[in-house]
Amino acid sequence: MSAPTTEGTSRPITAEDPLPNVKHVVLVMSGKGGVGKSTVATNLTLALARRGNKVGLLDADIYGPSIPTMLGVSGRPVSADGKSIEPLERFGVKLMSIGFLLEDGKSAVIWRGPMLHGALQQFMKDVSWGALDYLVMDLPPGTGDVALTLSQRVAITGAVIVTTPQQVATDDVFKSVSMCEKVNIPILGVVENMSFFVDPAGIRHELFGKGGGAAIAEFAKAPLFGQVPIDTTVREWGDKGTPVVQATPDSSIAQTFLAIADRLNEVVLAKAGAGDGAAPLIDRSGGQGRRKLPVTQ
Ligand code: ADP
Repeated sequence: MSAPTTEGTSRPITAEDPLPNVKHVVLVMSGKGGVGKSTVATNLTLALARRGNKVGLLDADIYGPSIPTMLGVSGRPVSADGKSIEPLERFGVKLMSIGFLLEDGKSAVIWRGPMLHGALQQFMKDVSWGALDYLVMDLPPGTGDVALTLSQRVAITGAVIVTTPQQVATDDVFKSVSMCEKVNIPILGVVENMSFFVDPAGIRHELFGKGGGAAIAEFAKAPLFGQVPIDTTVREWGDKGTPVVQATPDSSIAQTFLAIADRLNEVVLAKAGAGDGAAPLIDRSGGQGRRKLPVTQ
């Protein structure tokens, strides 16, 4: 099955927009580090690309850029004209990360707010992203001011919130949801990662509890796009620089990410008014109960 692309839709783009040829800007956010935000961002990006979208990935996780490792890309972006920067490219996806600009991948970035915001601004304005259906931005964890800065500089289509199922993770995620609301970034949907583990005997274990994704979705009045299980191949392929969606697209874990990308695409289309004309639909079941509850917005 091939999901529709963004054909005919766009976020509102003004004359000052730093990304005039990018139809949709999607932020991937989490309240807490280590929940798999970058894993979700990379696999979601590749899933959108596999569905026929032109996609870019901006690693805005300035303090812990992991996109270069997860996508197996190193090297320095070049500038042909001394003004704009050419993004790197991997698996047909355009990429930019602060990691590409660091002398030493292991050194920490110590930047003050203005430098950070300047770098982000440059990554949007001075990188030759070209025409894209989606630019996915992997944001640093926390409620931080990065989302605030972005919301002031560019019209954002919306955010995908990544959480794990347990309470300690969700407490922080609630804060990022309300921060998005304060700066008018729509929440497109929620991804619950590390939801369960199926052992070799086929028994399902909810290692990190359950219900976090549904609770966040409820709070955000947004759909739960899906529940991603703990699967060692996710980490293994991520460490090897080929995310699982690219490495084994037919595997069940890759199909989970592809289904999440399809649901994201559906919500973006509906939001842009180019879907099937129906209102966006809320489903907090993680996929089983699609099209159950009408959205109230
Ligand atoms: P964050 O961006 O939230 O800090 P990462 O995406 O870097 O988190 O993930 C942290 C670690 O967990 C990585 O080693 C990653 O490969 C692993 N990981 C993430 N999601 C899963 C999953 N569903 N199954 C197995 N390992 C995962």
